[in-house]
Amino acid sequence: MKRIAILGSTGSIGTQTLEVVRANPDCRVVALAAGSSVEKMEEQVREFRPLTVGMWTEEAAADLRLRVADLQVRVVAGMDGLLEIAAMEESQVLVTAIVGMIGIRPTIAAIRAGKDIALANKETLVTAGHLIMPLAREHGVSILPVDSEHSAIFQSLSGNRSAEVEKILLTASGGPFRGRTRRQLQDIRVEDALKHPNWTMGRKITIDSSTLVNKGLEVMEAKWLFGVGLDKIQVVVHPQSIIHSAVQYTDGAIIAQMGTPDMKLPIQYALFYPERRYLAGKRVDFVELGQLTFEKPDTDAFPGLALAYRAASLGGSMPTVYNAANERAVALFLEGRIAYLDIPELIARAMERHHVVASPSVEEILETERQAYEYVQEGLNCK
Ligand code: NDP
Repeated sequence: MKRIAILGSTGSIGTQTLEVVRANPDCRVVALAAGSSVEKMEEQVREFRPLTVGMWTEEAAADLRLRVADLQVRVVAGMDGLLEIAAMEESQVLVTAIVGMIGIRPTIAAIRAGKDIALANKETLVTAGHLIMPLAREHGVSILPVDSEHSAIFQSLSGNRSAEVEKILLTASGGPFRGRTRRQLQDIRVEDALKHPNWTMGRKITIDSSTLVNKGLEVMEAKWLFGVGLDKIQVVVHPQSIIHSAVQYTDGAIIAQMGTPDMKLPIQYALFYPERRYLAGKRVDFVELGQLTFEKPDTDAFPGLALAYRAASLGGSMPTVYNAANERAVALFLEGRIAYLDIPELIARAMERHHVVASPSVEEILETERQAYEYVQEGLNCK
């Protein structure tokens, strides 16, 4: 029996994780956590019967307690609740499907308690990879990537020596605006940016995919997960999203993982690794597909990717600024308060304002996040 706890169970990754659980009766959900979606959480509690459930606010937790008063379930709240769930004795694997830097502390707590991590939350490694990876090694826990690209790299590395890796080929769909010039991006509306050609995801990551900031975050995540230099990570635009990423070895061989775009595959692989289980769904038919194409990313139209390489090479607290400034800028865009092209501009301005703290602690990372929000506010006031 695989006992799992899910942070962010009501979101895109969270609900797909529960679909995987449904199809695998030897998997038991021991805890769930979400922000404020009480109604959805009540449904999940009734179906999966976890021992503990966390809601972010006291109000939401109180509401949920009333709704599930007929069940044997403990309802906790806030960061203390997330930390309790992360470290709870009954779980073996923590799925971090929460959005934002709020995922850092529960991930650390879970590693300290010896839980394996099925990692979807990008922000954790982007901002705190220098703390998380050594801690995971120290406690002998596995960090199993859920992100489809990182899962593909992880699968392509299987059975090979990391010393023989020449480079990592991180694929990108290019998003809904691939091929457009900077000028043509000026009047992009929220509803256009929320239409991803191949994947159905949460709102924030969908916008990030369209700006290539998501790919930038993935470059940083790959750097920490696989311990490779930035010069060994190449982003390749591959609009069909069939090759989920690949590894090139010193003899020139390229090993890739392919499949129909479906997040349930990497989620299931992370949960049952090293076992490969049956997964229902459409298979790739090469003949039907006809061709797979590749392009260079356009960093002029989409400066978010180049900014990510810059933030990652400066290192320390700079990736936190990149991430937090983007998070705030995307929220402003979704509220209709800034234009689409203001997103990378506000990130660039925030990065310019920041003095790097080398190897920041969790407190310094969270302080940098706060500063980045201020930089964005200042950038907004200057407009
Ligand atoms: P969603 O926005 O769909 O879901 C976010 C989840 O986090 C929801 O369950 C939400 O609860 C919960 N949440 C938000 N704030 C809090 C909080 N303060 N306390 C507890 N729970 C909270 O996001 P996604 O599923 O798209 O993404 C989750 C993470 O996975 C992100 O880091 C993303 O980058 C990464 N990822 C996502 C992929 C995808 O295909 N979607 C692919 C690869 C990585 P509520 O419903 O109550 O708001």
